[in-house]
Amino acid sequence: RAKQEGRGCFRYFTQNLTYAARERIDLEARLHRAVEQDELRVYFQPQVDIATGRIVGAEALVRWLDPKEGLIPPSRFIPVAESTGLIADVGEWVLRHTCLQGKKWIDAGLPPLTLAVNISPRQFLRSDIGDTVARILQETGFPPTCLELELTESALMEREQDVVTLLNRLRDIGVRLAIDDFGTGYSSLTYLKRFPLDVLKIDKGFIDGIPHRKDDGAIAAAIVAMGQTLGFKVLAEGVEHEGQLAFLQSTGCNMYQGFLRSPPVPADTFRELLVHAHAPV
Ligand code: C2E
Ligand code: MG
Ligand code: MG
Ligand code: MG
Repeated sequence: RAKQEGRGCFRYFTQNLTYAARERIDLEARLHRAVEQDELRVYFQPQVDIATGRIVGAEALVRWLDPKEGLIPPSRFIPVAESTGLIADVGEWVLRHTCLQGKKWIDAGLPPLTLAVNISPRQFLRSDIGDTVARILQETGFPPTCLELELTESALMEREQDVVTLLNRLRDIGVRLAIDDFGTGYSSLTYLKRFPLDVLKIDKGFIDGIPHRKDDGAIAAAIVAMGQTLGFKVLAEGVEHEGQLAFLQSTGCNMYQGFLRSPPVPADTFRELLVHAHAPV
């Protein structure tokens, strides 16, 4: 009887595995087509200067507008893209599209903005990332100093010597470098003094508990103090309430991003946000 159950379990397991594998292959094929047929979209979420309340930049966040399923969030397809190698195409598409949009805003006379683009670990660790970024900046005419690349701690924890070379190359091009989801990775703080970085983005996980949880507040305040002492700007991610903003203001945190100001929105909506925010009162 135990044997029978065991076999039943096994059959159930393989059926599920097959289903999952099939779904994955299906998603991979569709995503490949999506890149070619322009089904990807870039949304922009404002980054706000805490001291002035002004929008000083935006994070570019990819979405997939599938003709059948509608808007698919990055959590569903970025991991697939990352594990199949498609991330190179998706990542390059997002980078080019963001730089083109940024150039249009500059040409339209909007106030200067820093546009931040997420770079996945696999995309970053390709030895030609510097060439790719330089080529796209050249092709689009977007100024390097207006582009920020968001890297994760896990990408920086790979082959250290290669990472230093890659970061220095990007730094030479003139782009800014940010650490995304800071504090959640399996990381060593020593890299903060070794790598040429500009911005630490405190993970939403620490912001969520503010102001009720003393430990989250203490960690956020410590990241602000440490980051600024080391010469970085510090940005808090996922700010949803006034109470969180007030606390961050008291720590001297430089910038925030979050639903309190705006969720990620399409380019046209972002432009309206920007025009209203800067309109004379
Ligand atoms: P991330 O880079 O940490 O981006 C921040 C995420 O937090 C975004 O989710 C954003 O919509 C969400 N968020 C911002 N403020 C709030 C808030 O106040 N409350 C809540 N609940 N959420 C907030 P999104 O757009 O779904 O992206 C999820 C993740 O997917 C990103 O996390 C990033 O790791 C990845 N991703 C997105 N676009 C790209 C891309 O173009 N390339 C790569 N490699 N990864 C991307
Ligand atoms: Mg990010
Ligand atoms: Mg983040
Ligand atoms: Mg995140």
